[in-house]
Amino acid sequence: MGEPCQLDHWIDGAFHVAPGAERLAVTSPFDRSPVTSVPLADTATVSAAVASARTAAREWAERGPLERGRIVQELGRRLREDGKRFVDAEVRETGKLVAEMRGSLTVAADYFEYYGGVARALFGQTIGLGAGDHAFTTPVPFGVVGMITPWNGPLTQASRGVAAALTTGNTVVLKPSEFTCSTAVMLAELAAEAGVPAGVLNVVLGAGSVGAALAAHPDVRLVAFTGSVHTGRSVARACADRLVPAILELGGKSPTIVFSDADLDRALACVLGVCASSGQQCAAPSRLLVESSVHEALLNRVAEAMAARTPGPLLAPVTTEAQFEKVLRYFDIARNDGARLVTGGRPVEGPLAEGRYVAPTVYADVTPGMRVFREEIFGPVLAVTRFSSEDEAIELANATDYGLVANLWTRDSARALRVAGRLDSGQVTVNGGRTGIETPFGGVKNSGIGREKGFEALRHYTQVKTTVISTR
Ligand code: ADP
Repeated sequence: MGEPCQLDHWIDGAFHVAPGAERLAVTSPFDRSPVTSVPLADTATVSAAVASARTAAREWAERGPLERGRIVQELGRRLREDGKRFVDAEVRETGKLVAEMRGSLTVAADYFEYYGGVARALFGQTIGLGAGDHAFTTPVPFGVVGMITPWNGPLTQASRGVAAALTTGNTVVLKPSEFTCSTAVMLAELAAEAGVPAGVLNVVLGAGSVGAALAAHPDVRLVAFTGSVHTGRSVARACADRLVPAILELGGKSPTIVFSDADLDRALACVLGVCASSGQQCAAPSRLLVESSVHEALLNRVAEAMAARTPGPLLAPVTTEAQFEKVLRYFDIARNDGARLVTGGRPVEGPLAEGRYVAPTVYADVTPGMRVFREEIFGPVLAVTRFSSEDEAIELANATDYGLVANLWTRDSARALRVAGRLDSGQVTVNGGRTGIETPFGGVKNSGIGREKGFEALRHYTQVKTTVISTR
């Protein structure tokens, strides 16, 4: 695999090298060889990045949305044009399939083009108070946004937040996951080339303590976090101490609910979404709830299709060593809890064993008492449960602490609306309804607070300022 790539922070429009800094060696998901060497920022480096973002904030906020939007769109255009090296870097670090990563690149570029375009559609209201007073509202930026992202979709998650934050006139200090930080640094460099002024987008590298220092920094006025529930709670606590808001996009245990009248071919394709990125997606459809009369038929087809997903060409490895070990632990947990293993349940053997590959796995007869029903595994692991009534389907769907996405399959449109209305979920898709960057995304319950994506996200990156003028 060659020499590991030496990464550096990006602060105030330039690479920032901290001599003598401790470094983390990150290894490849494909064969565990070294891929990057990541400096771990100390508090002085975090403070330098925040200071740079703070200094840049006023001038950036005072540029009109038109000008900011054009720069943000230009970044999207360049990202599309320069895509190959982003795809290569992210495949190398995350282990994603090239085809999956090409799709992610398009989505990342779309965020910049979309938010850059709608920048001009963000305005306030005039409020009638009668003759003598004129009141209006203006959406204003927070200032410095601390953005903490995970390792499963580094480029898209950074782009989603950065595009919305910059468009609305905020400046950003981004802390990507220590395991997958190349594309964040590349994005910041490309942003500078696209015309983003120095200090408007900074990247600090390091492990969780760097994220914690950022979330606790007194000059960070909003924190956007994507990651685990456990870390999300700690970020929320740090924000509560300073009374600043947090946007939290956390985990999921998303059900696909299949009624007997569903189009089973299309439902099957939706269920197999649990193999995308080897299940390392917060919205992964990791539970299948299926009506009794079609349970055997669908379970057999799912198991056959999952078993045919050959790791390597058709299934990505697991990104980090800790995550790989976590998935293997869940195989033991499922066995001890009495779930019926239908296929998989083991790491991949043979030549691929040098990498972090696990076999696509299906468990049947899973009950709400089992941990594989309730807990996010973040691997290509599907938990299947049967139901015999609409009420039971809803109860099972809602029987976890999560509520990010639910997928529903039925040809009965009245039932679809009835069930969708009763699901505790930030997003419901019916019969494979497609979502896009325009559709708000976020969770209820432990899946998080706030919404990313869509116009809705812009409301989270701005505050409403009310101005009233006496005309008397
Ligand atoms: P995962 O379990 O998927 O690694 P985490 O929630 O631990 O998810 O990590 C998501 C991001 O949060 C990463 O960038 C990580 O470095 C960062 N992080 C980890 N611990 C903390 C913390 N205590 N405060 C802030 N950020 C953290």
